[in-house]
Amino acid sequence: MTQYLVSLRQSQSQIIFTSLAKMKLRFKAAKPFLLIFLLSLFLMAILFSSESEILQKTKINSNPKAAWSQYPKPQAESSQNQEKVKPEIQEKPTQNVSNIELNPVNATSAHTPRYKIAWAHPTNYGERFTKDINGVAVYNQPMIVLHETAGSALGAINVFQTPHYDENKQVSYHTLIELDGTVVYIVPPDKRAFGAGNSVFESPNGKETVKTNPKFAPSVNNFAYHISLETPPDGWDNQNPTHSGYTEEQYNTLAWFIAQSNVPENRITTHREVDRSGNKVDPRSFDFPKFLNLLQIYRQANSNIK
Ligand SMILES: [Zn+2]
Repeated sequence: MTQYLVSLRQSQSQIIFTSLAKMKLRFKAAKPFLLIFLLSLFLMAILFSSESEILQKTKINSNPKAAWSQYPKPQAESSQNQEKVKPEIQEKPTQNVSNIELNPVNATSAHTPRYKIAWAHPTNYGERFTKDINGVAVYNQPMIVLHETAGSALGAINVFQTPHYDENKQVSYHTLIELDGTVVYIVPPDKRAFGAGNSVFESPNGKETVKTNPKFAPSVNNFAYHISLETPPDGWDNQNPTHSGYTEEQYNTLAWFIAQSNVPENRITTHREVDRSGNKVDPRSFDFPKFLNLLQIYRQANSNIK
């Protein structure tokens, strides 16, 4: 019985060895195919990874957030920590800006506007949305809306720096230009300032507006950069259709400022143009052709430097 078992084991191991040897032979024969198979797997892996990289790059480029860099940037942005915004006015002459690259016109132009930082209280502005209220992605290009303060610059700044927890009272511009041509930075360009209520921009691409709040009509705020001109004293707190107009310094600063951005002329408009509430007429007494002429001069000066 034991002998039988031993011989059985022997014959079993013989069978195993023979099949192993056969397998080895088969493997030898299949070796080139296996190598080719592994090589093609490797090539496919490389191909897929580079393709996904391309896809990722396209995704980043089509991100609407990337467009915010086209807005004019605060002159002192590089030295300001936006996390620690202080709601007080810091007056600084432009000459103190150490990073001259932020202010390329300085090199050729006699017009070097002074600027102040007077950040609005965070209740008076918000984030720019990538989707509207229905979850539809929004891809509007940046545009600029011009306003006037209708009162003193200081009065307007006080309103923006006052905390407003009631949504109906929240208001801000990105930037204000005082009568002497000083730039006042109020809301960072990548944030959504609350400069316009019910509004639509009739662009070359059609009607543009975005609804972001169920309580309010759609507006241009999600893709607008709001700039306001300080109204001359004869236009303060009245409903007159006109006033004495803006100073030469304001026109120059406005043109100089917008020339720092890539926003095209056909995407620069006024509050009056975009308003759909029927009661906004600002900026009153604004000479648009004069401004456009200056803008072209400043943009030409910029392109000469570049
Ligand atoms: Zn306005």
